[in-house]
Amino acid sequence: MKTLPNFLVERVRLTPNRVAVVKPNDEQCTFKELYDDVFQHAGRLSAIGISKGSHVAVLMSNSYEMIVTVHALHLIGAVIILMNTRLSQQEWEYQLEDSDTSYLLTNLRSDRFKNVKVYSFEELQTVTPNSFDIQKTVRSEDVATMMYTSGTTGAPKAVIQTYGNHWSSAIASMLNLGFKEDDAWLICLPMFHVGGLSTLYKSAIYGMKVVLVEKAEAQSIAKAVQTHQVTILSVVSKVLTDLVTLYTRKEYTHSLRCVLIGGGPAPLPLLKNSMEIKLPVYQTYGMTETCSQIVTLAPEYMLSKVGSAGTALYTCELKVLNQDKMASPNEIGEIVVKGPNVSKGYYKRESSSFNDGWLYTGDMGYVDEDGFLFVVDRRSDLIISGGENIYPAEIEEVLVAHKNVLEVGVTGKDDVKWGKVPVAFVVLHKNTTVSKEELQQFCKEKLASYKVPKEIYFVESLPRNAANKLLRRKLLELQPGEEK
Ligand code: ATP
Ligand code: MG
Repeated sequence: MKTLPNFLVERVRLTPNRVAVVKPNDEQCTFKELYDDVFQHAGRLSAIGISKGSHVAVLMSNSYEMIVTVHALHLIGAVIILMNTRLSQQEWEYQLEDSDTSYLLTNLRSDRFKNVKVYSFEELQTVTPNSFDIQKTVRSEDVATMMYTSGTTGAPKAVIQTYGNHWSSAIASMLNLGFKEDDAWLICLPMFHVGGLSTLYKSAIYGMKVVLVEKAEAQSIAKAVQTHQVTILSVVSKVLTDLVTLYTRKEYTHSLRCVLIGGGPAPLPLLKNSMEIKLPVYQTYGMTETCSQIVTLAPEYMLSKVGSAGTALYTCELKVLNQDKMASPNEIGEIVVKGPNVSKGYYKRESSSFNDGWLYTGDMGYVDEDGFLFVVDRRSDLIISGGENIYPAEIEEVLVAHKNVLEVGVTGKDDVKWGKVPVAFVVLHKNTTVSKEELQQFCKEKLASYKVPKEIYFVESLPRNAANKLLRRKLLELQPGEEK
C-alpha cells in the first residue's frame, strides 16, 4: 500500500460515536470528541511554528493530553520523537540533540532545556489556533515516529518508524487476536515505548476503546478491568505477577480474553500460574525495531505451547541462524525477522543489524519441530565457559524459583581456567536469609554443574535501565571492592 489515511480522520469518518478513550478519572470520550480536541490542539501547535516534517519530541506520561498531542502532531505531519520520562537530564539532552529535535512538548520546566522550544500542554491552551493543512493521507514510507531503544545492551539507538510500519503492526496483531466490537484494550505500558504507543494506533484503526489508568500497577489495572469490561491487556512480567496474586485472592473479577506478556523473558512458572486461574496469557516477542510484536502465540496454542513466544505474525517471517546457516529444529541461534512492521533502520546510524530486509535481533532462540519460537537470551549476555554456552536467563529462572529469592542477575566473570564462569547477584526477600552454599546446591539439583554459579553475591538491588530491564553488563560493578 503506497498511501494511508490519517488513522484518526478515517476512523471519525466511519464510526464517530464509538468510545475512543476512557480517561483515568473514568470519563469517556468518543472518536469525534477526541478529534475535536486534536484538531484544536493541532491548530495551536501550528501557531507556535510546528509544521509538516518538524522534529517534535514528546516527553509526557500516559494521559489523555498525551493522546491528543500525538494525534495532533500526526494531523500536522510532524515527526514525533517519543522520550522516556524516567531518563536523566543528560540522557534527554543527548536524545534531543541526536534526533535533531526543535520542539519539546512536556510539562517539565522549560528552563531545563537549551536549543529547543519547550511548551507545556497547559501553556498551549492559551495559544490562538492557526489554520493548517490537515494531512488526511500520508505516504506509507513517511516517518511517523522515532523512538529510542531501551539501552539494555549499549547506548540507546533512535529507531525510525514509518506510518506503514505502524499500520502493518496493527493489522498483523488483529489477524492473530481477531477484533470484537466490544473489545477494550487497557494501556498500562508507557506510550513512550512502542508497546503502549501501538495500542493508540490500533484504537483508531480498529475503532476500539482504550482505557487509561492512573498508575501502571496491579490494583489500579484490576479495578479498571472490572469497571470498564476490559478484554485485552499488554503487560510486563512484574505487573502480571502481581495481577495473578490479586486474581488468586479473588479480589477482582475480569472480562479479559487476552493478556499479552512481552518486553522481556516470560518465566514459565508465571505462565503456568496464570493458566491455573484461567487468565488467558499469550507470550509475545518484539522490539522497538519491529514496532511492537512480530512473533506471538496464537490463542489455540496457549496451553499446548506454553513457554513459546509463538510464530511470526501474518505477513512476517522468522528464521534462526547459527553461524549464517539455518538452524535445525531445537538448535539455538540468532533470531532474524522480516516484515512490513520492521523499521528500515536507525536515525543517522549505519547498522549491520539491518540486512536485505532482515533484522538481526541480537536475541538467541530456537524454533521447535512445529515452528514455534522459544526465546533463550540476548547474544551479548552469552557466557562461554570452557567451550560450553551458558545463557544467564536459564540460571536466573532456576534461582528466582527459590522461596527466599526476590530477584537475580547472572553474568560471566573472567576465570583463568575456564575463560569465563557464571556468577550470580541475588536480592533476597525482606527479612530472609539463605547461604551461598544452599543456593548453589539448589542450582545443582536443576542445572549441569558448569552452569552452577561459582560465586553468589547478595546485594540490595540490581542495576536496571529506565525501562526497568536488568543491565547484566553492569552487574560485575556490584562485586565487593568494585567501583560503582
Ligand atoms: P537495546 O536495543 O538498546 O539494548 P532493548 O533491546 O532492551 O534495548 P527494546 O526494543 O525495548 O530495547 O526491547 C526489545 C528486547 O526485549 C528484545 O530484543 C528482547 O531481547 C527482549 N524481549 C522482548 N520480548 C521478549 C520475550 N518474549 N522473551 C524474551 N525477551 C524478550
Ligand atoms: Mg534491542
